[in-house]
Parts: sequence; structure tokens; C-alpha cells
Amino acid sequence: MKNFRYIDGAAILKFNQEACIGCGMCATVCPHRVFTLRHKKAEIVDANGCMECGACARNCPAAAIYVNPDNGCGCAAYIINSWIARVRKGAPGQCCGG
Ligand code: SF4
Ligand code: SF4
Repeated sequence: MKNFRYIDGAAILKFNQEACIGCGMCATVCPHRVFTLRHKKAEIVDANGCMECGACARNCPAAAIYVNPDNGCGCAAYIINSWIARVRKGAPGQCCGG
């Protein structure tokens, strides 16, 4: 999954570490290993790896994670389209917003 990345600095991912209870769900469900667990608290270790799928926010029992107003816009479409374009050597992929 290392090459399946969204645009750097584009993902809206907010994390309240004080609210975190250290369950580790975010690190488990994130397909891009954006979170890790250290000293019983989650940490963001690769914010630009986030593709806004919303899995971490939906699975956090402490509501410590906020992805975006739609709770994940599904910009996996951008990543998948970019990957297809790369394979076909065509134009870059488009985000779900256009
Ligand atoms: S929104 Fe998805 S990709 Fe981004 S940190 Fe959460 S689980 Fe990982
Ligand atoms: S899912 Fe929420 S409570 Fe659990 S480790 Fe991640 S941020 Fe903390």
C-alpha cells in the first residue's frame, strides 16, 4: 500500500490525543499505517499517508479522531484512478470531487 497515497497535505485528519484511551483500533484498521500506539496512546506517524477512508474515526470508541465533515470522503477513488493511470501511462487520477 506504500505507493497508494493521496495528495500530500490534503487529508483532513484531526486527532485529540488527550481523549485517546489507547485501545489501538485506529492502528489496526488503518490501511496505510497512519497511526501507531506508543505508551498506551495513539500517535500519528504518517499524516500524508491518510486517504480519508474514515475507518479510524468510525472505529474509535473515544471519538478522538476526526477525518472530515463527511467522515471520510472516499478519496480512495483518487488513489485508485492514479494507480490505473500510472499502469496505463495516462493522465493522473481524479478525486471523487472532480
Ligand atoms: S482515515 Fe483511513 S487512511 Fe486516514 S488515518 Fe484513518 S484509517 Fe487511516
Ligand atoms: S481508536 Fe481512538 S481510543 Fe483507540 S487508540 Fe485510536 S485514537 Fe485512541
